[in-house]
Amino acid sequence: MVTRPASSVVPAASSAPNSWGLGDGQAIPWEYAPAPEARDLVTLKERYGLFIGGRFVAATGGATFTSIDPSTEQPLAAVAKATTADVDKAVRAARRAQRRSWGQLSGKERAKYLFRISRILQERSREFAVLESMDSGKPIKESRDVDVPLAASHFWYYAGWADKLDYAFPGRVARPLGVAAQIIPWNFPLLMLAWKIAPALAAGNTVVLKPASTTPLSALLFAEICVQADLPPGTVNILTGPGEIGMALVTHPDVDKVAFTGSTEIGRKIYQGVAGTDKALTLELGGKAANIVFDDAPLDQAVEGIVNGIYFNQGEVCCAGSRLLVQESIAQPLIDKLKDRLATIRVGDPLDKNTDVGAINSKSQLDKITELVQSGVDEGAELYQPACDLPERGYFFRPTLFTNVAQSHRIAREEIFGPVLSVLTFRTPDEAVEKANNTPYGLSAGIWTDKGSRILEMVSRMKAGVVWANTFNRFDPTSPFGGYKESGFGREGGMHGLHAYVRLEDR
Ligand code: NDP
Repeated sequence: MVTRPASSVVPAASSAPNSWGLGDGQAIPWEYAPAPEARDLVTLKERYGLFIGGRFVAATGGATFTSIDPSTEQPLAAVAKATTADVDKAVRAARRAQRRSWGQLSGKERAKYLFRISRILQERSREFAVLESMDSGKPIKESRDVDVPLAASHFWYYAGWADKLDYAFPGRVARPLGVAAQIIPWNFPLLMLAWKIAPALAAGNTVVLKPASTTPLSALLFAEICVQADLPPGTVNILTGPGEIGMALVTHPDVDKVAFTGSTEIGRKIYQGVAGTDKALTLELGGKAANIVFDDAPLDQAVEGIVNGIYFNQGEVCCAGSRLLVQESIAQPLIDKLKDRLATIRVGDPLDKNTDVGAINSKSQLDKITELVQSGVDEGAELYQPACDLPERGYFFRPTLFTNVAQSHRIAREEIFGPVLSVLTFRTPDEAVEKANNTPYGLSAGIWTDKGSRILEMVSRMKAGVVWANTFNRFDPTSPFGGYKESGFGREGGMHGLHAYVRLEDR
C-alpha cells in the first residue's frame, strides 16, 4: 500500500514516461505507509537466567545487565551476568552430558533432535525474527527472510550428517572433540549460534555458548527450544555476561574446542588464551572485502549487488563488500547509478517491513562508524549521503558513499562495520588483484564481469576465503565459509564445518 502526499502529481498511466517524469537523483513522489510487524508476537520476560544443565538459573551473586532495543534505546529485559563460578558449572554440565547422555547417543538419535530443533525454529520463526530485530536493530525483512530460515536450514543440514560421519570421512573414525566453548558476535546472533551449535551437536559434542552482551535474547529463546525439543540437559548451555566470561570459558581447563566469531583484536587474545594447550581452535574474524566491477559487467545488476554487499544488515557484516573497486572507464556512470539507488533506500524502524537499513547495534558501534566516517572526510575523500530522514531516537546512520578514496585512507583499510562504502578505481585486472589483496584481511570478495574465464582467473589470484561472482552475500549451509590472514582460520558450513568438531582416528 502507498500513500501520496497531497502535493504530489503522479502522471496518468497512459501519459507517464518510463522514468515517471523524474530527473536523475530525484525521489519517487510517494511514500510507503508504515507496515510494522507486531511486537506482541514476542513475550519478553522481565528477567532471563543463565541456561545451565537444561534449566534457567540466576547468576552466582545474582547480578544482571540490561539488553536494550537499539532502535528506541529502551530496555528490553534484564539478563543474568555470569561469573567464573558459572563458567565452571556450565562446563561441568556440558562434560556430564557429553559422557552420560548426548555423547552416548547414536548418530541417528542425534539427528532426530537436530531435525526437531530445525522444525521448531521454523514453527516459531516469526517470534524469532521479531525478537532478533528488536534486540539487534536489523530490519525485519532480513531477520525474517535470511537469519531465521538460514539458522533453521543449518540445523537441518547438519542433522543430515549426524548419522553419516563414516561417509563424510571415509576410512576414518570420527570422534567428537568433547566440550566446545563458543563465543558469538552481535551482528547475526541466531545465525552465528546455528553455525556453531549445529555441527558441534551433529558430531556428538556438547557446548557452552556465550552470546554478545548487546544481543543475548535470541540465544535465550533458543534455550527454550532446547527444552521444548527435550534435548538432554547439559547438551547446550548458554552463558550471558561480559567479555571476561568469554575468556574464562576459553581458558577453562576442561574445554576441548574453542570457536570464536568477532573482532580480530579479541581473536588474537583468544589465540593467546589457547596457546600451549591441545584445544582445537577456529577463528572467524574481520574483513575488508573488495567488490570488483569490470567494464563488461551488467551495471544495473552490479548496483544491486553493491547495495546488498554493503548496506545489508547496516553493513555490520564481516564479509561486507566495503571496498568497491570499479574499472576506471565505467566509474562515473556506475557511481551515478549508485547515488540514484541510494536515494531509494529506506532507513528506520527495524520492525517496519519496508525498512532496508535498520538501527546500528549499539551506541559504541555508532560512535566507531561516526569517527571513521569523519576520518574519511578529514583525509580528503568525498562524502555522499542521500537526504533521508532518520528517526529522532535510536542509533541510526545514513547509507554513506565515499569517492576520491586513496588506499592509504583509514576508510579503505579499517573494518568500519557500518553502512559505509569506499569507492576506488583500477585500470587493469592486475591492478584490481593487487588492490583487492592489499589488506591484512582475507575473508571475502566479489567480481562482476560478463566473462567466465575472467572470473576463474580472478578467483585463483584473490586471497579471500569466499569469492562471489555476479552476486554477493549469498550463504548456504552446504558451503564452507572462513578467512585467510587476519580474517582467521578454520571453516564453518559444509563438511569442512563438521571437520572442525571431530577428531579423526584410524580404523
Ligand atoms: P568483539 O570481538 O569484542 O565481540 C565478539 C564477542 O566476543 C562477543 O560475544 C564479546 O562479548 C566477546 N568478547 C569480548 N571480549 C572478549 C574477551 N576478552 N575474550 C573472549 N570473548 C570476548 O566485537 P565488538 O562487539 O567489540 O565489536 C568491535 C568490532 O569488531 C566491530 O566494530 C567490528 O569491526 C568487529 N566485529 C566483527 C565481527 C565479525 O563477525 N567478524 C562481529 C562483531 C564485531 P561482549 O559482547 O560481552 O563484549
